[in-house]
Amino acid sequence: MIRDTYVEINLDNLKYNMKNIKERVGENVEIAAVVKADGYGHGAVGIAKTIMESGAYALAVATLSEALELRHAYEEYKIFIMGYTSDEYLEFVVKHDIIQTIFSLKQAQILDRYGKLHGKKPVVHIKYDTGFNRLGYQDTAESIAEIVQISKLENIRVEGIFSHFALAGNEANHKQFEDFMQAVQKIESENGHFKFKHICDSISAIDYPQFNLDMIRPGAILYGMKSFRKNDIDLKPVMTFKTKIYHVKSIAEGEGVSYNYKWKAKRDSVIATIPVGYSDGYPRTMTDVGQVTIHGRKAPVIGVICMDQCMVDVTDIANVQVGDEVTLYGDGKNNTLSIEEVAKLGHTNKNEILTRITRRTPRVYIENGEVINVVNHLL
Ligand SMILES: *Cc1c(COP(=O)(O)O)cnc(C)c1O
Repeated sequence: MIRDTYVEINLDNLKYNMKNIKERVGENVEIAAVVKADGYGHGAVGIAKTIMESGAYALAVATLSEALELRHAYEEYKIFIMGYTSDEYLEFVVKHDIIQTIFSLKQAQILDRYGKLHGKKPVVHIKYDTGFNRLGYQDTAESIAEIVQISKLENIRVEGIFSHFALAGNEANHKQFEDFMQAVQKIESENGHFKFKHICDSISAIDYPQFNLDMIRPGAILYGMKSFRKNDIDLKPVMTFKTKIYHVKSIAEGEGVSYNYKWKAKRDSVIATIPVGYSDGYPRTMTDVGQVTIHGRKAPVIGVICMDQCMVDVTDIANVQVGDEVTLYGDGKNNTLSIEEVAKLGHTNKNEILTRITRRTPRVYIENGEVINVVNHLL
């Protein structure tokens, strides 16, 4: 591994979450498992197999580069780009059999041409905007006419149509869903049928089972993150962020620690230095509020968090030594901070905490209690 700072990825917990999600939504709802942003920091390639073997239909990503990374690792899996791919890169989508989101006739025609050229039938999902105002066809009669035209192209296969919730409240969610269903109905009444209609992310999949349709696109819940409000589902956090102490020293009352001496010792203190900083993905906003767990006890992070290191006050924890394990955050058990607590303390959301983990931090994959794979992107 060559580094004491790492994230542990518990594949058993990932399997557990997939199983519970599948049971919840039932057999008739396919799962496009969202592994964008390097699998929310868990390592897309490292978790893809577990997810697909747990019964996901496809791996969903945001960008072509993410899709190609997965394609190089896995020849067979269905890979779905939920975002936009520029015209000049669409040939890669066709060559590598990637499912592409589109929302223009022009892109449909480009894919149709490449389909013919390469003797393939590129699969597309139409993005339909029901109010988020990010991507997709606007909800108009012209859009519907254009989608009908797309569905008649010979060298592409329009497999799905989807929208995305802004999650602006119960009433707004219902309106988005109804607008989506109306548009779909109009298109289907003119030409054919979409195999997959989908609108639910994690929160809406759990809170609005009646909106699950044929497919859901869960990200956060795969990783054990719970943000839904109305319903509950049993999930386990997959990621634990760990490091080891690499320096311990005593300082006198009044001495400062880290940049600007923003923290000063109010008593004679024992200070431990840990090799994790904001460039590893530990939020700099944890300065003054962060806590880590050492010997099963919480210790405050003190002073400004540096790029590669930070300091911890271990005065109240007996016998702390170089090499002792430190948990930055985990499942919230055994006195560890949960990702939710870190998000609150760091003034951000849980997904940002997960996705900030950078590639300098190795991923250690655990299955049946054993390390089965270590990914260090720098080596
Ligand atoms: C990221 C994303 C998702 C997954 O969101 P979660 O809240 O993590 O479940 C689903 N759909 C689209 C279009 C996304 O961009």
